[in-house]
Order: sequence, then C-alpha cells, then structure tokens
Amino acid sequence: MVYTIEMLMQRIRSGDKQYDPEKIQTAYEFAENAHKGQVRTSGEPYISHPVAVAYILLEMCMDTDTICAALLHDVVEDTGVELDTIRRKFGEDVALMVDGVTKIGQVPLNTKEEQHAENIRKILMAMSKDIRVIIIKLADRLHNMRTLACRPPEKQRKTSLETMSFYAPIAHRLGMNDVKEEMEDVSLYYLDPYGYKEVESALAARKDKGESFIDTIKRRIAERITDIQPPPVIEGRVKSIYSIYKKVYVKGKNLDEIYDIYAVRVIVHSIVECYNVLGVIHDMFRPIPYRFKDYIATPKPNRYQSLHTTVIGREGIPFEVQIRTFEMHNTAQYGIAAHWKYKAGIGGKKVAGEQRFDWIRQILDQQQEADDVEQIAEAVKVDLAPDDVYVFTPKGDVITLPLGSTVIDFAYAIHTQVGNRMTGAKVGGRMATFDYQLKTGDIVEVMTTNSPNYGPNRHWLDIAKTNEAKAKIRSWFKRECRAENITRGKTAFDAELRRNSIVPDDEFLLQVAKRQHFDNVDDFYAAIGYGGVALSKIMQKTKEEYLKLQKPPEEPVQINISDTISDNIARKQSSGVIVDGIEGCDVRFARCCNPLPGDDIIGFVTRGFGVSVHKLDCKNVTEQQSNPANSERWISVKWAASAKAIYEAILDIVAQDRNSLIADITTAISASRIPIHEINAHNLKNGNASISVTLEIGGVEQLKNLVVKLKKIEGVVTVERTGK
Ligand code: MN
Repeated sequence: MVYTIEMLMQRIRSGDKQYDPEKIQTAYEFAENAHKGQVRTSGEPYISHPVAVAYILLEMCMDTDTICAALLHDVVEDTGVELDTIRRKFGEDVALMVDGVTKIGQVPLNTKEEQHAENIRKILMAMSKDIRVIIIKLADRLHNMRTLACRPPEKQRKTSLETMSFYAPIAHRLGMNDVKEEMEDVSLYYLDPYGYKEVESALAARKDKGESFIDTIKRRIAERITDIQPPPVIEGRVKSIYSIYKKVYVKGKNLDEIYDIYAVRVIVHSIVECYNVLGVIHDMFRPIPYRFKDYIATPKPNRYQSLHTTVIGREGIPFEVQIRTFEMHNTAQYGIAAHWKYKAGIGGKKVAGEQRFDWIRQILDQQQEADDVEQIAEAVKVDLAPDDVYVFTPKGDVITLPLGSTVIDFAYAIHTQVGNRMTGAKVGGRMATFDYQLKTGDIVEVMTTNSPNYGPNRHWLDIAKTNEAKAKIRSWFKRECRAENITRGKTAFDAELRRNSIVPDDEFLLQVAKRQHFDNVDDFYAAIGYGGVALSKIMQKTKEEYLKLQKPPEEPVQINISDTISDNIARKQSSGVIVDGIEGCDVRFARCCNPLPGDDIIGFVTRGFGVSVHKLDCKNVTEQQSNPANSERWISVKWAASAKAIYEAILDIVAQDRNSLIADITTAISASRIPIHEINAHNLKNGNASISVTLEIGGVEQLKNLVVKLKKIEGVVTVERTGK
C-alpha cells in the first residue's frame, strides 16, 4: 500500500485531534523536493516512505512536530540538506528529532553478540533524549519491515535480526504492543519461514472452527453483561503468530496444549466494571488455576494494565480473557505513544522535556518486583545519571567504559598491544586528541603502528581514566614486556648494523651497551625495544667505534696484566652497588624509580637478571614487600663508596607555558654541565606545559642542586623526579 500526502491530510481532517495542517504540508513539500529523483528498491518514489512513517505516527495520535520530523527523517542523512535549514524552517524540536533519528540510525547494530543487545538497546534509548525520537525510529523500522519483500534475501535476514534483537524489545519496553507484535511476526516470517508457515497453516486449519468459537464466546459474554451501560466493546482474536511460535518451538508445546491461541477482550469504562466483568466471566466459565493475573492493581513495568484470566468453556477449548478500560486499552496498544493521544496535536514543545522522564518514574513507582524493573532501573540510570559510556569499535562491538574515559582507555580496553601501539584515534571518522572524552554512541577507531621504537607516552598516565589502562601503561614502562622488547630491539639494532656494514662480535656489542650505561646486551636491546634508546642517536658513534677497531694495530699489542685486572675490578664495581651476601652479582637499576647514588636503596633478586635495585620508597617496593611469596628475595644493598658512575634520571617539570621556556630550562641544565638524553614537552589543558627531561646524573647531590636551579626559572610550578 502506497501512502500519499492526500491520505495523510484526509486522516488529519477526519480525526478529532487538533493539528497544524499547514506545517505538515510544508514539511511534506520540503521533503518531497529534497528526495526528488530518489526511488526505493520497490520502484516507488522515495517520499512514499517518510509519508508512510508519518501515517503510522498519525495513527498513534502523535503531535504535529513528530509528524513533521517523520516526513523529514531521512532528509539530512540521504540528501544534502543541512540540519540548520530544518531548524530555521520547522523549529528546534523538529530539528532535534530529525537529528536524533539520523544519529541512532548510525549506531552499528551487531546482532552476533547476544550479551551486547541489552547495552545497545540502552544506548538507543539514552541517545533518544526526546522519547519521540525512538517512537519515530520504531515507526520507520515498522514501515521498512512492511516493505521488506522488495529487498535482497541477505538484507531481509539482517534487518529482521536487528528488528527482533533491538527494536521489538524496545517497543515492548515502551508498551507499544501492536508495534512489537507486528515487528516480531514479520521478522519471524523472514528468519524462520518454515516455522512461520507451520504455525500459520496450523491456525488456518483451525480457522473456521476458531472463528465460530470466538463469535460464540463473544455473544455469550455480551448477553450476560447487558446491564453495563454504555455497553462494553468485546473483541476476539487469534494471538500473534510469534507468541504461538515461541510456545511451540521454544517451550516445546503442542498447539493443542497452548491455552492462549484465542483471546477475548472486554473493554469497559471504569475499573469497577473491570472487576464486575471478571466475576461474571469466572461464573460463566471454569477458570484455569494460577492463570489469573491482576495487572490493574500491579501494572507491568511498561505501564500495561488489564485483568487476565484463562478459562475453559463447554467446548473444552481454553481461551484467555483480557478485561480493561478504554484508557488502559489505548496504553496497551500504543504504550508510551498513548501519552500524546489526549494532548494537543499542536505545540508539543512543553511536553518534550517532561515526557522524557515522567513515564520512567511512573513505571518505577508502579511496580517494584517485576523482572523488567531492574532493566528499566538500569536504563534510567544510563538516562539520568550515566556512570558509563557505551562506545563502539568500527565493527560494532560495544565497549563499556566509565564516564570521562578517553581514547587511550578505549585502546587499552580492546587490547594491551592496541594501547601500546596507538598513534592516534578517530572518533566518528574524525581525528580526536588523546584526551578526547568519549560519549555514548561514539564510534572509535584506533590507529596503531608496528614501528619497533613505539610505545605509550608517559603523560598518558595523566590522561587515562581507567585503572586498567594506567596499570598497563605502567607495566609497559616497568618493562614487563621485556622479552618482546629484547626481540624487537635486537631486530631493529641488527638491521641498523647491517645497513652500516657492521659485523659485531659479542665483545663489541657489550661495549656498545655499556656506553649507553647498560650492564648487559639484553638490557640494551630491551631499551631499544621500548624506545628508551633511539638508534638514530647512537649509530654514528657506534660506526666510528667499529671502524676504529677494524684498523690494524700499528704497534704490537703489549698485554698489560695490571690493566686487565683493574678493568675487571672497574667492571664489577661499575654499578657502584654492593650487594650483601651475594658476590659478583649482576646489578641493574629499576626503571620505575631510577635510584641515584645517595638514595636509600633495596635489592630484589630477579629470576635470571641479577639484582634489581630500587629506591627504598619506591611504590613497587612498598607494594611488593607485603607479598610473603617474595619475602626471601628482598636483600639489602648499599652504594659503594666509589660510586661515581653516571646514572639516568628523569625530571618532570610543570610550568606556565611561555616563549623560550624550554630554552631557559635546557640552558640551566647545560650550565650545570649535565648532559640531556631526551626532552619531551606537551601542553596541559590548564595552560601549563609538562616537560620531561632525561638526564645523565652523577649523584643525588648534583640532582638536588639542579632542581633548586630549575625551580627558580620563571613560571616553573613543580619539578619532580619520576618513579617516586
Ligand atoms: Mn527511514
């Protein structure tokens, strides 16, 4: 059936609700013009679709603005029209609804992940700030389901799955029973055509018998309640195919065992009459035990109210009787949409905000124990005071994160390696900054690199919101991915060596490592692996050293024994740390706190990498010392008197950003004759800059003096050694 604007206008004129036909006509003409030339798969002009959607909403007695938004709902998405144009022509409410429908239409619906279905339903609800948005979306989907026959089979299946998983449950939650049943039946038709036809033909076989049965029952009831004035409306019907299908296929029941294939409905004018009719029915037919439900005293969470009972008549066929008032009937059909029925069709403005919350509150007030209440309470929480944001991967998987989470948290939530290798992120197809705070419904794409020198940045720790992400970043810096870093570093270094035609032996490698202040080659590789050593900075020097070695000695080499011995001693003491009880032990300095001579220190016997030396007040020490499993492995260490080696220290400086700030800092450091390994700066949100400097330090005293100097620089707020 093709709906036209004339039918729409006819319906408006014939109804008793006040509409603004001029505004609706204008919206139609605007949409008609915008969609000009577009056709649906069925071959009909595209405009027939928005008109049909508007018609469905008109049948639900929705207001003028909703009808206009329905006519315009695909204009922004499918034609070049700007939202601003709609706002100017049709007002803020219509524009917001069109925008809302467009946005929830873009939410990827992944029907494979069952556990996410509930989340996605919540998202769709939460994104519909104005509940009319989701009502339009449901009408849109309903019309697409009605016209699904024209689409290719795989599209039919996908759309039906989405409808069954997301839209029908939402219609149910909003109490829109007619919409829900039609959606389920049509979806079933495409999802299980054989099952559908089996139920359909089983019902058809019973059709004549069923119809005359329903008619008899209706007549008999009508005869018994003639004293009720004005007379009640009595309806009879066969229940929806999907509801019967579920009982046959899911609960494994025989069609004859199903009580409620047939249903009779008695609609009266007052609640008192409802209970009176119930009494009459129970007097006429034999009630089946435990099948009576009083949804008037305790309405369903979606506001449904009725009395339900199942009875058996003389024919021996059980049937369900529903008794309700006209008002309840209206709510049962249209659910939340029934709200608009008695409201003016024009000027929906004042209802928009109030509508969003009131119905949810009503539901919660009415019914505390029903199964759905928990779910609705959840939905309300998301709606009113969200703790979580729900965002999507480009494939449509849902990632739940606490409010305030950034793209960094998102990347680490997907996988540690995705986080560690993240170079940037796109939100909704646009580049986002690392500190971008995610919003529900965002589609986030993380860009990564396989570059071996790449890893997280230290200042991500300040940006990340979740403890998971922070822990993963920290552990990366603690080099828990050491084995991988070694492999990565070795591969990168070997490639550079080949490029420079260097064929090193073990001793040469050790020499290179030592020049970078590592005790062994693996530590050196690991540092390359996590980006602590930049190959670009060391290759020139490495090549020079190598070429020097390759020169034939001009004089015969004199082996000087005392040199060898002193070299040996120097090597043993190169760490400058004396380890109690263990001789000749390999020592390395923990990267989490980078102890310097003069610091109070403690050692930890690692598995296979010697003794790792931490500062006594290092956080990892305080955390780990309480672990009884490792208590044996903590040993006391102290600095050798001769400890004069060069150590690496990292200072984090926070300062008000200004011109030549970095220059002033580097000048101060150079003036103290301290070599700078690395300097990184970035802007903080509050107008400050954070500068991280990696230095070669001779000891704690030297460092303390430098900190005093740095603090005197104009604008410097704090200077801290990291790893504390
Ligand atoms: Mn549409």
